Amino acid sequence: LARRLPDIAELAAGIRRGERAVLARAITLVESKKPEHRALARQLIQEILPDSGGAHRIGITGVPGVGKSTTIDTFGSNLTAMGHKVAVLAVDPSSTRTGGSILGDKTRMAQLAIDRNAFIRPSPSAGTLGGVAAKTRETMLLCEAAGFDVILVETVGIGQSETTVADMVDFFLVLMLPGAGDELQGIKKGVLEIADMIAVNKADGEGALRASSAASNYRAALHILTPRQMEWSPPVITISGLANEGLDTLWQQIRLHRDKLSATGAFQARRSEQQVAWMWDLVKLRLNEALTATPARANQLQALENSVRHGDTAASVAVEEIAALLGL
Ligand code: GDP
Repeated sequence: LARRLPDIAELAAGIRRGERAVLARAITLVESKKPEHRALARQLIQEILPDSGGAHRIGITGVPGVGKSTTIDTFGSNLTAMGHKVAVLAVDPSSTRTGGSILGDKTRMAQLAIDRNAFIRPSPSAGTLGGVAAKTRETMLLCEAAGFDVILVETVGIGQSETTVADMVDFFLVLMLPGAGDELQGIKKGVLEIADMIAVNKADGEGALRASSAASNYRAALHILTPRQMEWSPPVITISGLANEGLDTLWQQIRLHRDKLSATGAFQARRSEQQVAWMWDLVKLRLNEALTATPARANQLQALENSVRHGDTAASVAVEEIAALLGL
């Protein structure tokens, strides 16, 4: 990628043919921070845009150890066995390329890693959540253009990452542990509100009973929330990613959700709104980049922020200074 700037038409054609090596190169281009690569990446995304949108986009979150990779490995393999092409992506703003992302890691998904109909891509390396998410969104479009019809986007709930992922997918699945009486502890406020479904994992062996009792508690908790959509009350199911139990129900429910929301137009409306929200996210990112382009500027902003914090400068006055920095 570094040696020769790639030809966009060639890349797009390779992606459309479903060539994995080309897809991987295109994703590297999209993830690049070099200005000349970023300009090409924009062209590429525009070029493949008509070929995107064909996948069922599913977000998956849960605390470390809940069984995300185990469940994705099994669930993804079930889907490829049914004839689907599955791409696994990740949003992990804490990851670094050298340190290795814990998410979307091939070694954690042994079956899928060697599955010809699956494609696993770890999270773009560390950056702001917005920056990492923007790259994952574009990667999602590339995977769709390459013919992947199910995209699984994995995230651990760090910061706002669940909301960010929920905002880029059609269906947001929250995995939970079968807790012993403290089911609702450690669950961030707000996660239940954005869940399209809760699956209590590890419902096998001795865990089965605890899992169904946890599921009842979550059902009760969800019951008092106003559903996000009229068409859909988020179900709570029990699964075992390890024993491949309940994953057929999981898929049925995801399909049912799509059918119900499609019937009223809510499915397409959610996507359209996501597109517009994404545009504004990119605007914010862009402004932020412009503002912190040089260390001197970053320092200047930091000083301004401190001044506002201490009540020395009015927020409105600071805004004018920032606007001036941007040449507005
Ligand atoms: P992640 O951190 O959320 O990706 O969790 P992992 O998939 O790495 O799983 C963490 C641990 O839980 C591993 O030791 C898994 O073998 C185990 N595990 C995952 N799913 C299940 C399950 O359905 N049942 C049981 N009993 N163990 C599981």
